[in-house]
Amino acid sequence: MSDAFGFTPGVALPGGRGRTGVIATPHGTIRTPAFVVVGTQATVKAVLPEAVAAVGAQAVLANAYHLYLQPGADIVDAAGGLGAFMNWTGPTFTDSGGFQVMSLGVGFRKVLAMDAAGVADDDVIADGKERLAHVDDDGVTFRSHLNGDLHRFTPEVSMRVQHALGADVMFAFDELTTLKNTRGYQEASVERTHRWAIRCLAAHRELTAQRADKPYQALFGVVQGAQYEDLRRQAARGLADLAVDGQRFDGFGIGGALEKENLGTMVGWCADELGDDRPRHLLGISEPEDFFTAVENGADTFDCVNPSRVARNSAVYTADGRYNLLTAASRRHFGPVEDGCDCYTCAHYTRAYLHHLFKAKEMVASTLATIHNERFTVRLVDDIRDALEQGRFADFRDAFLGRWLAGRR
Ligand SMILES: [Zn+2]
Repeated sequence: MSDAFGFTPGVALPGGRGRTGVIATPHGTIRTPAFVVVGTQATVKAVLPEAVAAVGAQAVLANAYHLYLQPGADIVDAAGGLGAFMNWTGPTFTDSGGFQVMSLGVGFRKVLAMDAAGVADDDVIADGKERLAHVDDDGVTFRSHLNGDLHRFTPEVSMRVQHALGADVMFAFDELTTLKNTRGYQEASVERTHRWAIRCLAAHRELTAQRADKPYQALFGVVQGAQYEDLRRQAARGLADLAVDGQRFDGFGIGGALEKENLGTMVGWCADELGDDRPRHLLGISEPEDFFTAVENGADTFDCVNPSRVARNSAVYTADGRYNLLTAASRRHFGPVEDGCDCYTCAHYTRAYLHHLFKAKEMVASTLATIHNERFTVRLVDDIRDALEQGRFADFRDAFLGRWLAGRR
């Protein structure tokens, strides 16, 4: 820990693990719960940083794997770090690269694996795809998705890359598993991730000392353990207690395979073991119902590519569910994407115009839809935070989900 980074818990949800809080970083504070907008390649696709600020985003998360391959972490370092490079003055996060690296090995069926029950298989790989990543006890060897070049990520490499990228919050290098992996593999993987966490803390400590002239970068340990309560608790406890020469994790990520219906339970197991003094980031979720469940069970921050990804596929979120702007229903609809929305897109443009832009394959279609979806997502988590602060979380949740779930039918 450092004076430059800290977490102050605020209002607690009575009878639950939910809470508000403030994360302090060298580039500003984040009021939690908060949604962190994803800018994978040091840009939120299709929108300028000014628009990211205008949707109310408090922080941006970029991807260490992508930036390591292109332009190279040394370029970002020379530019003054991720924020300076991409013209984002607020707090930044980078993930460890592990998720993307290991997705090259198993990820083609990741989503399917999340839904599949019963069949356990440690060698899951999509039909017709060559395995592009191999995990061993020391790290992961993988081929670049860009040109097929061979690379190797270890905990030390991930730490060096993330220190060079210069984000305020970094994640420890962890092994990604899927629900398809056997129980035995999950056990071995949790142990491997713990050994990697120790190496990450040691490398982080050394790099922090070497780069003492740079702003402090916080390191979050990542809890794995898939759907197993004992493994999740063991992993979380191990990370919460871990100290290498006095260096501890500044916060925690909760990652990996999970079944949607068990999301809250799983987050709760982790929160129980992680203690209340450090922030908990749930990696990769953005569906409205998941935010409520996760916040209630102790998650403080979130990130996900979905709001911008689905926007580029002409799908938009509203309080009454999600719809696609390309269908005929929007062709002559001269109201906004969502009535009452305070985003730039809804203030200035009609559904009919966005329908036209998507039909005509105009680039600004993605820009306008992304602004709406990111604003919707950031605002929802902000509203959840306000509800916690004002002691009306359950009422807000029930009212929001009543409309949202009715709209989805
Ligand atoms: Zn809007």
